[in-house]
Amino acid sequence: MSQPISLSGPDISQAEIDAVVAVLKTPHLSLGPKVPAFEECFTRRLGVKHAIALSSGTSGLHLIWRAMEIQPGDEVITTPFSFIASSNSFLFEGARPVFVDVDPNTWQIDHSRIEAAITPKTRAILPVDVFGSIPEMDSINAVAKEHGLHVLEDSCEALGSTYKGRPAGTLADAGCFGFYPNKQMTTGEGGMVVTDNDEIAFRVRSMRNQGRDPDAGWLQHARLGFNFRLPDINCALGIAQMNRLDEILARRDRVAQMYIERLKGEPRISMQLVPGDIQMSWFVFVVRLDDHYSQSDRDAILGRLRDAQIACSNYFTPIHLQPFYQRDYGLRAGDFPVTENLSARTVALPFHNGLTAADIDRVVETFRKLL
Ligand SMILES: *Cc1c(COP(=O)(O)O)cnc(C)c1O
Repeated sequence: MSQPISLSGPDISQAEIDAVVAVLKTPHLSLGPKVPAFEECFTRRLGVKHAIALSSGTSGLHLIWRAMEIQPGDEVITTPFSFIASSNSFLFEGARPVFVDVDPNTWQIDHSRIEAAITPKTRAILPVDVFGSIPEMDSINAVAKEHGLHVLEDSCEALGSTYKGRPAGTLADAGCFGFYPNKQMTTGEGGMVVTDNDEIAFRVRSMRNQGRDPDAGWLQHARLGFNFRLPDINCALGIAQMNRLDEILARRDRVAQMYIERLKGEPRISMQLVPGDIQMSWFVFVVRLDDHYSQSDRDAILGRLRDAQIACSNYFTPIHLQPFYQRDYGLRAGDFPVTENLSARTVALPFHNGLTAADIDRVVETFRKLL
């Protein structure tokens, strides 16, 4: 029996272990000095004015909408080809999703179709940096400006990527990262809101901590808030990961290049098209089977890979086909055909820094045989 190969996995060194243990020997397990120190890793690296650490990427996205005062009945334009947390984040505030189909090559929201989706109720656009690449942000920001809309960049999958030399997360009014263990770097669970907007930053910071204002007393609450704090234990892990970020990303890139080399010239698959003005930080390694394969062919391939102890996934199931989206928003199969065609044919192969060249040989050989 061959060894199982996992789909994802964190890159943790002794430095991370030591950093976490050191916090456990202090009395400051939460609201201590590691929180601002972790935030400073982001303001420094991204050259952004504010960074606010939170309990997850989802809670960060949610608080940005509240800071932007998104209201029930408002419409938010976004992509159906993403992780569900991206559009769930504004459903919490009663806003409605207006999906725009993706480009068949870049797999990102088709920016040329956004303007046609704008109605008098539209308040914001939520572009998502799918798989570490980035949508046409200049065009999206221009449409938003013309129509007076907020733009929130969901950069949860793109830490380290750049667009025309500017870092992912800094390309809109606010951005948000997530640190679940399958992301480029991890804090176990966690997130980071980044913005140059003082008002958004102030409100997110307050709502993260039960609605307290910075100078107010512990039991004084200026607004409705949450407990979306990130403990110092997790922040210490995050600081150690940020100190190694360039090394971690370089290793991820090496794994991706090993796959690309072995799959080069394979006519039965294609990959996400990444435009030349984007520097990619790899989140996952996803290939698309060509149109000869049906969804059940793809599912059979996933099943056989798993039988061979090779973990894999079908990133993503279209958001508009999730049961409660269909039920609550009248969405159905056929609404976004480019997304549905793509989603039916994606295969995410194991992707993390623990993979050896021999592992990748085995994955690619098994996968090709199944094709
Ligand atoms: C991971 C992810 C999130 C949510 O981050 P969590 O930290 O898991 O809450 C949001 N949007 C996208 C596109 C993601 O990939």
